[in-house]
This record gives sequence, structure tokens and C-alpha cells, in this order.
Amino acid sequence: MIVLPEAHFRAVTEHASAAYPEECCGALLGHRIDKGRKVVDVVRCRNVHDTPTTRYAIDPAELIALQRKARERDLEIVGFYHSHPDRPSYASRTDLEEAHWLDCSYVIASVENGSIAQVRSFELPAVGDDKQFIEEPLIVSYTEVKPAEKRFSSAQFGRIPTPDLS
Ligand SMILES: [Zn+2]
Repeated sequence: MIVLPEAHFRAVTEHASAAYPEECCGALLGHRIDKGRKVVDVVRCRNVHDTPTTRYAIDPAELIALQRKARERDLEIVGFYHSHPDRPSYASRTDLEEAHWLDCSYVIASVENGSIAQVRSFELPAVGDDKQFIEEPLIVSYTEVKPAEKRFSSAQFGRIPTPDLS
């Protein structure tokens, strides 16, 4: 499970839309919680891959610097995100091959014609022969909103809730 406060969920989707038709990428900083991860900050990274429309790569030096800054704030890197321009938000074989961080979330935002289509998250419980992604619930939390609005308190699997105005 990954819990993303709404502002950080929006930071991911806005980055994905802005980077279209290229893939965006970034890191999710936060804490490990029971059965998952809670995000408290989202950091955009540069996509340094040669073919950024279909692949992404984060500069290792940028990642090391990011990890150090996170530690200084008592945070950890609890996940990564990237986008799939005009492709579904399923983890590709390349995504799996290039995922090496255990107990992390891998959030994938599908962007169709520049608009967010779907956001999913996968976790990597093991490497080696058992290496596989398992889709996990993505909870968007709206804890900062007024109590009367609390009934729209979460969205599972990245669906953006539509307020019932009736
Ligand atoms: Zn991918």
C-alpha cells in the first residue's frame, strides 16, 4: 500500500502531463508504515535516458544526492514514479528489469494525449528468481480538507474521486 497526500498525488500527475510526450520520473520520500509506505514529499528527477519517449533513467549521482538530503530530513526514499505516454500504466518488462529497490513503491502514470488516464502502483517484494511486481493499493489522502468533505477521503488504485454535487 502507498499513501499519497492529495497534493503529492497531484505533483506526480502534473509532472507526467508536463513531460508528455516524454516519460517523467521522480522519487517519493516518506516513511515506512504498517503494510506500506506513506509519502511526505515528491521530488522531480531529470529523465536522462537517450530515448525519453519510451524509457526513463534517473542519473545515479542525482539519486545519491537525493538519498542524502532525504536522510537529513529523517526521510527515506520509499518509491519512484514515472509516466507511460500513450501506454497503459502496467509495469513493463524493462521496468521490472531496472527495478532494484526492495520494499519500495513504483508508481506509473499513464498519459493519453497529454492527460492523465490512470495511475497505478506496484511493489517489489523480492529480487532474484522471485522478482516480480505486485500491484498495491494507491491511497490518495485528503486529510487536510474540512470535516464536511471527509466523505471523499480516499481513492483506491489511483481513481480520482469525483465529488457528488447532488
Ligand atoms: Zn515504464
